Amino acid sequence: MRNIIYGVLLMISLSVNALAKPHIVILATGGTIAGEAKSELATTGYKAGSIAIDTLINAVPEMKEIANISGEQIANIDSSNMSDEIWLKLYGRLSELMEDSSVDGVVITHGTDTMEESAYFLSLVLDAKKPIVLTGAMRPASAMSADGAKNLYNALALAASKEARSRGVMVAINDRIFSPRDVTKTHTLNIDTFKSPNSGEIGYIIDGKAVFNTLSQVSPKAAFKKAAFNIKGLKSLPKVDIVYTYSNDGSKVAIEAFLGAGSKGIIVAGSGAGSIHQNQKDYLIQLLKDKKLVVVKSSRVGSGIVPLSSEEVAQGFISANNLNPQKARVLLMLSLTKTKDIKEIQKYFNMY
Ligand code: ASP
Repeated sequence: MRNIIYGVLLMISLSVNALAKPHIVILATGGTIAGEAKSELATTGYKAGSIAIDTLINAVPEMKEIANISGEQIANIDSSNMSDEIWLKLYGRLSELMEDSSVDGVVITHGTDTMEESAYFLSLVLDAKKPIVLTGAMRPASAMSADGAKNLYNALALAASKEARSRGVMVAINDRIFSPRDVTKTHTLNIDTFKSPNSGEIGYIIDGKAVFNTLSQVSPKAAFKKAAFNIKGLKSLPKVDIVYTYSNDGSKVAIEAFLGAGSKGIIVAGSGAGSIHQNQKDYLIQLLKDKKLVVVKSSRVGSGIVPLSSEEVAQGFISANNLNPQKARVLLMLSLTKTKDIKEIQKYFNMY
């Protein structure tokens, strides 16, 4: 009899405990965090996106102590192959999860190559009422001293934490927390690769606890909770491409090709403070005059604002502000779902 009572009490306390834990959904998209190599020493030449989400979850049993977890496989790719199609799929599923009252937060496992683009995209299109934390790894799961398990644990701890509420989309990797707008990958192989060159990280995860920098609370660009762009029902996104400026360049070949392939907008990864080779620029000015394209000046430098002269404003160029070319591309794609008005688009670049 006593054993039965103990048994019942234990079951009640286990289920109360389970109820008390936040429910976090992990959406897996692949990447090195789900990558496997033949040798423990290999950190290159492996296949990203080969391990399924349940295996990743089971590899970090500590996570179950802090949350009730369910995993879903959205894709299993190397993130260099990320596509609009997967973005729209992620957007659709995340929109549902934001409305699902049984869910407290979401973690997205993602390759590190294009994580910054996906994070920024999601931050602009979702009403992120709950924390959405992207994470990944630089070393494959099979590597000696792999970083994936800790990153996954930290991302989950962040998504489940009170501190993360109302902070929307974030990137958590290598013990740091970043805003989706400012974060970028800065090293090809090192695990300390993610930085926010213009603003720094917004916080840290120390022993599984999220600690935010005080300043990040006042940065209007740190996180978007309300969707800046409504893409509900869209089956595709406007095509925007990036043209690089470099010494002895100045040809219009790439621009012509992009235009011919249906580009609606061009981001120029200019040199220095956004300078464009004059030959290339003359062609762009002509296209702007003919209203063939929207053109955003950004910089290949990696940090800092791109200013526009009054002449350039009159010619119709838009400044990317301090967004890097790949992020400027995301914002221009979304801007073009709303308007072609250059002044309006410039406002988005100043605001988001
Ligand atoms: N190429 C990999 C990817 O982005 C790199 C990584 O995940 O670290 O999927």
